[in-house]
Amino acid sequence: MKWSARLKGKLKFKEPLKKYSNFKIGGEASVLFEPQNTNDLINCLVYAKKNKIPYFVIGNGTNVLISDKGFKGVVIRLASPYFKRISIKNNIVTAGAGLGIKDLIRRLLETNLSGYEFLTGIPASIGGALVMNAGVTKEGKRFSICDIVYKVKVLNKKGKVFNIARDKIKFNYRRSGLDKYIVLGAQLKLNKGKKSDIEKRIKDYLCLRRQRQDYSKPNIGCIFRNPSVYLSAGMLIDKCGFKGRHCGGAMVSKKHANFILNFNRAKASDVIKLMETIKKKVRNNFDISLREEIKLVS
Ligand SMILES: Cc1cc2nc3c(=O)[nH]c(=O)nc-3n(C[C@H](O)[C@H](O)[C@H](O)COP(=O)(O)OP(=O)(O)OC[C@H]3O[C@@H](n4cnc5c(N)ncnc54)[C@H](O)[C@@H]3O)c2cc1C
Repeated sequence: MKWSARLKGKLKFKEPLKKYSNFKIGGEASVLFEPQNTNDLINCLVYAKKNKIPYFVIGNGTNVLISDKGFKGVVIRLASPYFKRISIKNNIVTAGAGLGIKDLIRRLLETNLSGYEFLTGIPASIGGALVMNAGVTKEGKRFSICDIVYKVKVLNKKGKVFNIARDKIKFNYRRSGLDKYIVLGAQLKLNKGKKSDIEKRIKDYLCLRRQRQDYSKPNIGCIFRNPSVYLSAGMLIDKCGFKGRHCGGAMVSKKHANFILNFNRAKASDVIKLMETIKKKVRNNFDISLREEIKLVS
């Protein structure tokens, strides 16, 4: 029996990955698999491991730069309804890794729970937000998803499912150490709040985002990590005069210098060249080595 016949979820062969990346860049995946549930996912992993086939999990594709050559292996998307479930009991929210932050917020707005508002507008899935420890910096203070995590449910390479408590996870600025697992979901711990205050904070975060970020063309948010809370990569790149600079179809945003836009059918190689030029100039001008926030997939 062919291995693929055992799987219940959706399988697509030679699937263009640009469809799943917010950047609209990237070659084909040998296989794209959307498991129906955890057992289906485990069956796929066991096969991949036995046959030494590489795999990679993609969330909403809002922080990944996919190579023009694509990915030779299985790309896993937790897009089935099973991975998008959400339940709320008292102040604990249990959400699947495939659920979008937007849907999480929409659901939480029906309650009087608070503490998650800073996530407003981050176009992530729960899985991607946990792996990247997504968040915002406001008035010199960082707010990240790790602040509200209670437990994370993961699947390891051996096919074992278990929960990891918040204090056992190595959360850091835009990093979590969770990328060695497949994140299946999480429990978030929130506080009770006043509805009008919650709605106001959500509005404020949306406003802040519209002021700061560029939505005019496909992009994957901030390319580089900020060197510190007080020193933004965008400011350093701007000071080097990169706003509006382009390479092939990729261009540094005129609004936010840490955003690269796919303004005209950019290739991953255009973006990478632009990133290298930026890093070199920032290093020469400020003696600072910028580090990528985005994840490169090849
Ligand atoms: C317009 C725009 C604005 C943005 N603003 C912000 C912001 O304010 N703050 C911020 O932090 N980020 C921001 N981002 C970046 C991005 O949204 C975050 O990094 C987000 O956490 C990525 O989530 P994702 O689901 O898209 O993950 P992807 O981009 O699909 O994947 C990111 C990484 O997570 C891994 N991953 C995803 N899901 C799983 C899983 N279930 N199990 C294991 N690994 C997984 C992938 O393998 C990859 O390594 C922005 C992006 C855009 C396009």
